Parts: sequence; C-alpha cells; structure tokens
Amino acid sequence: MGRGRCGTGDSSFDVPEAPPPAGQSVCVGHDANAERATSTSVVIVGAGVAGLTIGRLLRTAGVDCVVLETESRQFIEQRPRAGFIEEWVVRALERHGLADGLLAHATPQSECEFRMDGARYVFRYGELSGHHHFVYPQQLLVTDLVRAYADDAGGPVHFGVTDVALHGLDTAQPSVSFTASETGERHVITCDFIAGCDGARGVSRHAVPEGAMRVIRHDFGVGWMAILAEAPPSSSHALFGLHPHGLGAFMHRSPDISRYYLEVPAGDSPDNWPHERVWSELRERLEVPGAEPLVEGELLEKRVLDMHNYVVEPMSYGRLHLAGDSAHLLAPVGAKGMNAALHDAFLLTDALLAHYEQGDDSRLAGYSDDALRRVWQYQEFNQWLAEIMHGPSSGDPFRAQVAAARLRRMVDSATNGASVAGLYIGIDADH
Ligand SMILES: Cc1cc2nc3c(=O)[nH]c(=O)nc-3n(C[C@H](O)[C@H](O)[C@H](O)COP(=O)(O)OP(=O)(O)OC[C@H]3O[C@@H](n4cnc5c(N)ncnc54)[C@H](O)[C@@H]3O)c2cc1C
Repeated sequence: MGRGRCGTGDSSFDVPEAPPPAGQSVCVGHDANAERATSTSVVIVGAGVAGLTIGRLLRTAGVDCVVLETESRQFIEQRPRAGFIEEWVVRALERHGLADGLLAHATPQSECEFRMDGARYVFRYGELSGHHHFVYPQQLLVTDLVRAYADDAGGPVHFGVTDVALHGLDTAQPSVSFTASETGERHVITCDFIAGCDGARGVSRHAVPEGAMRVIRHDFGVGWMAILAEAPPSSSHALFGLHPHGLGAFMHRSPDISRYYLEVPAGDSPDNWPHERVWSELRERLEVPGAEPLVEGELLEKRVLDMHNYVVEPMSYGRLHLAGDSAHLLAPVGAKGMNAALHDAFLLTDALLAHYEQGDDSRLAGYSDDALRRVWQYQEFNQWLAEIMHGPSSGDPFRAQVAAARLRRMVDSATNGASVAGLYIGIDADH
C-alpha cells in the first residue's frame, strides 16, 4: 500500500511505496538525508514498565515489535521511582514468567500507619483484603524487564534515540521516525500499530491532532519533595505523618535505602532543604511518643514533584494506543501509577494479540474504555487519600476535621476499612 510523503519537522522525505519485509531495511533518500526504512508489526515508544512488558509479551507470542527509548539502558536500569506493586500485578507478571526477581527479593507490605496529633492509627489492609503489596524498586523491575525482552527474547530496542516523531496515525500503516544514537542515522519504521508508552513527558500523545483527545487534569496545589536516603527502614510499614506543616511520609524500598516524602509549597526548590532541615522536619511530622525514632542517613536524591493528576481521553487515536503515564498521571499518593501502567500493558497486549491471532479488533476498539475504568477508580482513590494527607496542612479547619473523620472511619470501621483496603490493593478497581 502506498503512503506518499511524510513530514518530519521542517523536512519531508520519501518512503517506499511498499514497506520492506519485517526486520529488513532499505536506505531511502540521498546522502545526508538518507533514511533507513524498516517495518515491524508494533512500534513501542518508551522502555518503561509499560513498554517493556508489552514488548516481552508480544515477542513471546511471536508478534514482531521494536522498542524505542530516548535514554540509555544503564540510565533506565538505575532510575529510582516507584516501589509498591499490587499483588494482582505481581501474579500477572508471574503468569508470564516475569516475576522471578521480584518474588525472590521483594518485601511484602500489608499495613500502613497514620500519625496525627501524637496518636497512631494502624491500617491493616492486608488482613482486611487478604492481599498485600510487594515492595520492589522500579529500577529493578525495569532491569528484569529489559533483560526479559532484549536479552532473553531477543527483542530489538534502540536506546538513546532522538527526535522521535509519529506519522500517519489514522492510516492503516503508521510509522515512527527517529535518529539513532550510534550512527546519527535517521530511521523510519512502518508498522501496524504504535504503543505510546513514553511516560508523562513523551511525544506520543502530542502527535494526535488537536481536539481528538482531551487532557483532564487536577492540581493539588502543593509540592512533595521525594527523598531517597541511604538509611535502613524506620518502620516495618509505611508511615504517614499528618501535620499542620504538611505531610511527612516514610516508605520502604530496600534494607539500605528508604523513601521519604515532605509536602512543601508548590514550586519550592530542593536547594532550600539542606540535610539538617529535611531530617528535622521529618522528625517533626513523623515522630510520636512511643514509636521508634527515624533512622537517618545521607540524602541520595531530593526532587520536588508538582503534585497533579491527569487523564487523557480517549487513550487511542487511529493506530496509536497510549499506555501508562503517557495516558494518565497519578501523583504518588496511593502508589498507583506503575500499577495502572502495567494494567494498561496487559490489556493492550491482549487486545493486540486478539487482532493478530483471531482477527478480532473488538478488544482494540474497547481498549481505551477498559483501561480508563480502572484508571478513574485509581484517580478517585488517590483523590480521597490525598484529602486525608493534605487536609491537616490546608489551613482550613473544616478540611482538617474532615480528614480526621475520614481517617478514623477507615481505621475504626471494619466495613469501611475493607472497602478502602480493596481499593488500596487494587482488587476492587474495575468498575
Ligand atoms: C517519586 C515517585 C514514586 C512513585 N511511587 C510509585 C509506587 O510506589 N507505586 C506505583 O504504582 N507508582 C509509583 N510511581 C509512579 C510510577 O513511577 C509511574 O507511574 C511509572 O513509571 C509509569 O510507567 P510507564 O512505563 O508508563 O512510564 P515511564 O516509566 O515514565 O517510562 C516511559 C519511558 O519512555 C521514555 N521516553 C520519554 N520520551 C520518549 C520519546 N520521545 N521516545 C522514546 N522514549 C521516550 C522515558 O525515558 C521512559 O524510559 C511513582 C512515581 C514517582 C515519581
């Protein structure tokens, strides 16, 4: 099928009338403008948890794909972010043979504790739901997934690509062009589908024509300073200090590394937070009489997150399907973002396989609605929990009292607690 001419920024270039067979390449154009043209079934933009999972599952099912990633392999294998993975996600990864590292090294977590006005409220969501989180640093999961996709399944991946551009999304043969890091050569890959898994700052969703997707956004109006400390855990479970100064939080990561959060004014700079100030404020917000003191250590990373959520609707346009943070951001209030990204990845892979294996496109047509059902449940939970966390520091005594009432009901009422537990652990989120 002919595709005419495509534009990349200021230049335009010819592409072959028919794409070469999958995996083969031809050079198109002249000297400096030469482009290497190849084809595959699915181009996956972004080697995060969503993109790598889709890649590995497609390869295992015998569907060709290519992954493009702007960063180096070393960088993505060391980039720390999430840690809390819901049990259903772990079981799904396990069914696909992708959870060996996780099951061998993750720490189970089934309780968290809120501290307010010197009192301690332990929420035993594991007992209430029968399920728990697995704590496994995101960079280790990414490392496992890169190995599973690229090394074990021989999946092609281009690291360090630049100037990624998507073309012909509403045609039967879309394509993705990029510049390869090793050669500086421009490539164009023609495909059947594009999986846009390039995170919150990617290009995929911006390739969609104006008006075809809408972004629904909520700003919390505060920042969270995300901190990694070289320090053993301060508690066996997550801690949330609800304080007039703002939230202070501790989360398990590994025996030597701990994650802390401090709510700060929106737009604050980490430079305003030297070592002593960070620890003194964490002590102020988190320590209560009768509890172990925080275990302090060197600060390895401090960065201020602009706390907001968004959802892109619909998550599909033509042959482009978004997955993960490119389609929805969940501020790290309820530890939902990576879990939602993996939910998308499983759904999208199933839909693509229904296309390739049964010629059934109904799953692809329903992908956006199916994914968004869970995304909105997670967004609602994030919003609900954030009000407990931010109410006490809002300066509004009404919000502070509502937050306290919500917290007491969650911990004191088994019925309410069970419902919250189901949402926190993600078993009750497909409605
Ligand atoms: C501090 C913090 C703590 C968190 N804690 C949790 C938690 O405990 N539990 C949880 O579930 N979630 C958590 N999250 C959220 C989680 O990290 C994200 O939701 C998750 O990374 C989303 O995965 P993804 O694959 O969609 O996107 P990403 O992991 O962002 O991957 C996208 C990839 O695309 C690449 N890319 C970007 N642009 C391009 C381009 N133009 N071309 C090609 N590649 C591109 C990026 O380099 C990246 O590798 C946390 C987030 C933060 C910041």
